[in-house]
Amino acid sequence: MRPSASPTAFAAVCLPVAMIGAITCGLLGGAGPVAAGPALPLAGRTVVLDPGHNPGNFSHRAEIDRLVDAGNGRKPCNTIGTATATGYTEAAFNLDVARRARVILRAEGATVVLTQDGDRSWGPCVSERAAIANRVHADATVAIHGDSSAAVGYGFHVILPAVVVAGAADTRAIVGPSDRLGLAVRAAFGAATGEAHATYLAHGTGLMVRSDLGGLNLSRVPAVFIECGNMANPTDARRMTSPAWRELAADGVATGITSYLRGVRG
Ligand code: ZN
Repeated sequence: MRPSASPTAFAAVCLPVAMIGAITCGLLGGAGPVAAGPALPLAGRTVVLDPGHNPGNFSHRAEIDRLVDAGNGRKPCNTIGTATATGYTEAAFNLDVARRARVILRAEGATVVLTQDGDRSWGPCVSERAAIANRVHADATVAIHGDSSAAVGYGFHVILPAVVVAGAADTRAIVGPSDRLGLAVRAAFGAATGEAHATYLAHGTGLMVRSDLGGLNLSRVPAVFIECGNMANPTDARRMTSPAWRELAADGVATGITSYLRGVRG
């Protein structure tokens, strides 16, 4: 039973104890109101983690190939993602990192929503992923991916939303906060993992701005993607296949989100 400052609860605690000794009762009574612990840093904040693709997409090609609204055009509902040369899939990587990051963010007090948690056979579509974050009014959304490029390239990069005003898309209000979120995630991910900025794009800045991703175009809340490494590169593939490295990756993502949210008043 937890001690309480409430007189009613106090009596409930004290009376039975009094039967075995007034000293014990006096100690309880002298404890007074229990001081509340410091509020967790992300208490009251909602984070959406969007694990890219779905391990089941491979066997639901018709469903994921159908076109959906991406704001400035129509795009496939979802794709299968990539894999390492040894067959470790991006979908498995993304979901594992998201689950690990969820543990860390919950410990910070955040409410964490995953767009898929291995609890559906395929998808969701990119449009649904954005809708989930919009519906819960997420304070921050991070989509987690692994990239596929020429094997010689390595490193990670963060993708920021472009200004897109088309159809259901209007990113004007989220571009600024998403940029800040992306910078925080880039810094924290690099520090946590030691991973370099991608060598094969964006001039080594680790930052890209894209207007072709429905998940960003349709977002009404701060949103970025992270491509955690190049799964076609042997060194990155070895890291991404390691559970210990995925924990570092999750720590980087979570720390970046926490850093961003602590700089933004709830
Ligand atoms: Zn992907």
